Amino acid sequence: MPEDQDFHRRVLRWFDKHGRHDLPWQKDVTPYRVWVSEIMLQQTQVATVIPYFERFMTSFPTVQALARASEDSVLHHWTGLGYYARARNLHAAAKTVVEDYDGTFPKTVEELASLKGIGRSTAGAIAALSMNVHAPILDGNVKRVLARHKAIEGWPEQTLVRNQLWDIATRLTPTQRVANYTQAMMDLGATVCTRTKPQCDTCPLADDCQARIRDLVRTIPGKKPKRILPVRETALFIVFNPAGEVLLEKRPPTGIWGSLYSFPEAANPAQAPDLGLAVKLRAGPQQTLERLRHTFSHFHLDITPVIAHGEPMDSAAEPSRWLWYPLDGSVEVGLAAPVKKIIKSLTVT
Ligand code: SF4
Repeated sequence: MPEDQDFHRRVLRWFDKHGRHDLPWQKDVTPYRVWVSEIMLQQTQVATVIPYFERFMTSFPTVQALARASEDSVLHHWTGLGYYARARNLHAAAKTVVEDYDGTFPKTVEELASLKGIGRSTAGAIAALSMNVHAPILDGNVKRVLARHKAIEGWPEQTLVRNQLWDIATRLTPTQRVANYTQAMMDLGATVCTRTKPQCDTCPLADDCQARIRDLVRTIPGKKPKRILPVRETALFIVFNPAGEVLLEKRPPTGIWGSLYSFPEAANPAQAPDLGLAVKLRAGPQQTLERLRHTFSHFHLDITPVIAHGEPMDSAAEPSRWLWYPLDGSVEVGLAAPVKKIIKSLTVT
């Protein structure tokens, strides 16, 4: 359609002048670097991702290096970014690329999307940005631009709405300069067609943007139907040994904070945590710290930190479960976000 031709031309003209050209993953572009950046950028702002990306690339410069790394080391590099399943999937997919594809990323969207943690949009982004393959993407930014431009109402995660947006994205993606167009659409959503206060005055799509013309910008894209999250409670025991180290427990691979290290946990401060053979708690009053709330996608967790002291017994009996962690952070393991926060508060007080 002629208007579709015009759409990508306007987007590309805008990109040449105003797009972002100096993000770290835009240098030395490879499928590996684009993939890591795309996974980090899910649910996370560019400014937050940049230092994480750079540290990650210094430690794991290639997919082979990532495949060889220990899970603890990968999770350590992810500590603070949240959504740790992303890091575990990244690690698993790196092993698949090395073992099944000889270390070379597959070129088709279907094969890329068969790797752990890579959905259709991320597969499209890797193919388009690093291999210039004609592949549409539909990440949060692109969904917003397209939904507004075509005035598609409703929550974009609803199947009907999402399918409609995929059709539009597929139709509008050009066959030439796919990498630039893909980056341009992401940039446009991130810097011009923002969630609140979009800058329609400077937008290259303003002339025929249906949401702008029909005054629907504030209501598109539609919001997710609201849900009240339940509240759960837990107590985390900060057990010090005489050397001033704290006891951490490696969590099982599935469930919240899977494979990350956390403080031993009990249902409430009055209950004793299961410490196995690692430590014997000293009798005496315990100190309870200020409660903190951590919110997951499906519930709030109210955490009461409890300080206790103990005598190390036999942590060597279960070396994969227990770790005496020095508060200077010199041991590299992945920490659950509230644990990192609590440790930080212990070191500044
Ligand atoms: S005109 Fe405004 S609402 Fe429409 S695409 Fe551009 S920035 Fe978004």
